[in-house]
Amino acid sequence: MSARKLGHFHGGLKLSGHKQVSMTGEVTTSPIPPQLIIPIQQHIGAPAEPVVSVGDRVKKGQLIAKMEATVSAPVHAPTSGTVSAIEEWAVPHPSGLPNTCIVIDTDGQDEWLEDRATHSQFHLLDPEELRKLIRNAGIVGLGGAGFPAYLKLQPGQGKLVDTLILNGAECEPWISCDALLMQQRARDIIDGLNIMRHAVQANECLIGIEDNKPEAIQALRNSLTDDEKRYIDVVAVPTRYPTGGEKQLIKVLTDMEIPSHKLPIDIGVICHNVGTAAAVADAVIRGIPLISRYVTVTGTAVAKPHNLHALFGTPMNFLLQQCEVHEGKLGRLLMGGPMMGIEIHDRQTPIIKTTNCLLTLQPQDIADDHIPLPCIRCGECARACPAQLLPQQLYWWSKAEDFDKVQDYNVFDCIECGCCAYVCPSHIPLVQYYRFAKTEIWQQERDKQKSDRARQRHEFRQFRMEQKKQEDEERRRKKKELLKKAQGDKPDEAKKSAIEEAMARVQAKKQQQHTATKNVDDLTDAQRKQVEEADARRERLNKDDPTT
Ligand code: SF4
Ligand code: SF4
Repeated sequence: MSARKLGHFHGGLKLSGHKQVSMTGEVTTSPIPPQLIIPIQQHIGAPAEPVVSVGDRVKKGQLIAKMEATVSAPVHAPTSGTVSAIEEWAVPHPSGLPNTCIVIDTDGQDEWLEDRATHSQFHLLDPEELRKLIRNAGIVGLGGAGFPAYLKLQPGQGKLVDTLILNGAECEPWISCDALLMQQRARDIIDGLNIMRHAVQANECLIGIEDNKPEAIQALRNSLTDDEKRYIDVVAVPTRYPTGGEKQLIKVLTDMEIPSHKLPIDIGVICHNVGTAAAVADAVIRGIPLISRYVTVTGTAVAKPHNLHALFGTPMNFLLQQCEVHEGKLGRLLMGGPMMGIEIHDRQTPIIKTTNCLLTLQPQDIADDHIPLPCIRCGECARACPAQLLPQQLYWWSKAEDFDKVQDYNVFDCIECGCCAYVCPSHIPLVQYYRFAKTEIWQQERDKQKSDRARQRHEFRQFRMEQKKQEDEERRRKKKELLKKAQGDKPDEAKKSAIEEAMARVQAKKQQQHTATKNVDDLTDAQRKQVEEADARRERLNKDDPTT
């Protein structure tokens, strides 16, 4: 047991774990489903851009969507098959909105892409090269957030990483995939940790695990070599929700607080999930991009709750069937745990990089029949908040849609852990209000950026027009100057000669018109006779015409 002196965070809850429910058997490998539905966005940031078309045959591990922005992650084919569609599909997201997915009809051959680059001697690689490998493998935080991992391994100018933390707390009830990963792939996790340490040149590494997972703690400690024991410490931390929150785990392990609006790197710390570390080892040492993960399928509506190794894009229903879901008894399906999970309404929704758990609940388990009552200002929520916020104030201002006030109360420090809502005697769905406020603020920010861009475009256009006007004026001025120069220094004489020239031109024109209307006297005899005959004819006609 580590002798490290631990800190503790404010608030939090002691919850029933329910973890053993899904930890009794082995992790099974889910078969390849007939069809994989792979969202192009399984991470925080910009969606990836498809690089395959309908009809293309793809191999396992092949890039199917590339990243087009810094905060993004590429997506790879989890198995071989043929792209049968690129279309909107239900995806796991709190908004419930569909998103673009690449659909692969699998061929069952599971044929790997040739020429995968492997780097067992990773310590010989440059840190930048390691980050590139991790980025190209599409690795994102597997603890649930889905932030691109390579970015967190890029401390930034002048920032040093003193402590690299691996988060193995897995504090939310029912979820056990990280616990089993630590038991079964302890050495891979340590290898991934060493790679990340080399990438950021950290001094010390800590692996924080809640003390309700003794097997996992032991497995990791047993995997350490004597040399690794000098700089890696596997630390058992008290079981208390939400110890797995990044700021909370850092506080427990280092007794350091991350100030509001700051990041762990600002105090010399970075934190990754244990699953992310295993994925890093796969990518760098074995050349395997992120295409699958461990998923806990548990709850009261499955007969065989356990952990499965599933390919991304596998429909959730495919996993539920393997765990013998009680058809007709499934009242609610959550992706994630009961505190922070998101509701899934379509069972064909695919497993993605951040799917750690499918929690099934029967109708009688659902306490949604509580009707929210008015806030009685009891302060229970503030006592439970691990981020030391004032949840009731956040609620008031979110409800009033006063988003400036919501930000004054640091809504973006809220980790949406749900502790406040859990203890609220008025059963107010507090977290929903905070999510609403955050979404609105982000939208307003996007709108503002859009209007700022439009304003900048308008200002630039005005500037160009003004510039053109000045250029034209300048051109005219220069022309005048040149003319003056060409005329020498006798401007009056030049003017006079110009007037005389103009008058001569007018005179010549008049002369031209005069000669055009010839006098009859100038006509020849034959022409004159012709004119007289025409006049006589006209006279005769006039006499004969009764109308005249
Ligand atoms: S716990 Fe609920 S009722 Fe009590 S102050 Fe907070 S929001 Fe109000
Ligand atoms: S959801 Fe937010 S406000 Fe509520 S307890 Fe958690 S951190 Fe605090």
